[in-house]
Amino acid sequence: MPVRNSFHSLMKIGPVQIGTYRDNRGRTKHAAVCTADGCGWSADYASSAAAQLAARSHRCRIN
Ligand SMILES: [Zn+2]
Repeated sequence: MPVRNSFHSLMKIGPVQIGTYRDNRGRTKHAAVCTADGCGWSADYASSAAAQLAARSHRCRIN
């Protein structure tokens, strides 16, 4: 997965970590990243609520 600058972890839901980072235009984005080995799922959202919802609904194909 890509390494993001200034990624701030906020919470973890199951294997999915949620955090915020600044994109290259200085806007705050919310990222949900699955930390399970071999999964590699990640997505960006405009709000933390959307990221949390995605984390809860993520079905990890590893488990
Ligand atoms: Zn996963």
